Amino acid sequence: MWAHRRWAKELSLGHVATILLGLSQLVGCGGGGSDGSAGATDPKGKPPTQTAPTDRRFRIVTTVAMVTDIVREVAGDRAEVIGLLGEGVDPHSYKPTREDVRQLSEADVVFYSGLSLEGRMGDAFARVGRTGKPVYAVTEDLPEDFLREPPEFAGHFDPHVWMDPSAWSRCVRFVAKSLAEYDAPHAAEYQTRGDAYCVRLKELDDYCRKAISSIPESQRTLVTAHDAFGYFSRAYEIPVRSAQGISTDSEAGVDDVNRLVEFISERKLKSIFVESSVNPRNLQAVIAGVKKQGHDVAIGGELFSDAMGPAGTYEGTYVGMIDHNATIIARALGGTAPERGMSGKLTESHAKP
Ligand SMILES: [Zn+2]
Repeated sequence: MWAHRRWAKELSLGHVATILLGLSQLVGCGGGGSDGSAGATDPKGKPPTQTAPTDRRFRIVTTVAMVTDIVREVAGDRAEVIGLLGEGVDPHSYKPTREDVRQLSEADVVFYSGLSLEGRMGDAFARVGRTGKPVYAVTEDLPEDFLREPPEFAGHFDPHVWMDPSAWSRCVRFVAKSLAEYDAPHAAEYQTRGDAYCVRLKELDDYCRKAISSIPESQRTLVTAHDAFGYFSRAYEIPVRSAQGISTDSEAGVDDVNRLVEFISERKLKSIFVESSVNPRNLQAVIAGVKKQGHDVAIGGELFSDAMGPAGTYEGTYVGMIDHNATIIARALGGTAPERGMSGKLTESHAKP
């Protein structure tokens, strides 16, 4: 089931702006620095000088919900965590609002994803960082040789790190370490909560591996709207093809659509997947093309790529988001995974292939 309301929102917020941005954005969205270092691309101020207030809970402002969720898990009741980007919002094209800028300036600590995912928020992070406030990219500590550098984005890293739970748990450890430094008297708490959460991410990782490996070899290809599943693909050995590249800024061309039509028809793939934060029209064109070739392919479901499900639902948590993706992919491509996912918590209507 996929909600048009959500991509309509994304269309109004993001796509119009990105179409106008054109090529300048192409460079900004891939991630990575011209010197090839992972951290250098992300705006950094001087080393943070501020430490946690002792008389009140502190305020953490975050960007995408995947970051908001891990920061909440680690911070526990020590901090109020405010996420700026909600359900269905495309971070590649997101431009901070006046209210976002206010939230950032009133924050005690800021965490964002980094690797230029939030390509149009860089200036805002840099301004806040210059005040001595701690501003961190959660992907900051990942070694360069771990990061994907897709050929079409040479010199830029793929920012969609959360798609691999073992990689995201390294980011959880970075959050724990950063909060322990900021709020030293409570360092042990952050470490304990971070460790406990990483245990859950290990279970999630094991579940994804099992679910994806159950897909028959001939069907084990993931076709999606934009190229957000590179780390998922590498972690779980499922090749991935997409109508659009790493960022959602450039429109898929007729050639891109035709190549996908050929690919799907040749392999007789049963299902392809739309994304909650990306307009499905490219994939609808692909489905129409495949039908013309006399083969039938269906939308296997809606995946969460760059945004999570509704706040307050299981799919609105990082674990739920990845569980949802792995379960839907496995079931729609002929594999075996429980209808309600890893721990029986998936919303039923979402889990139907
Ligand atoms: Zn993306």
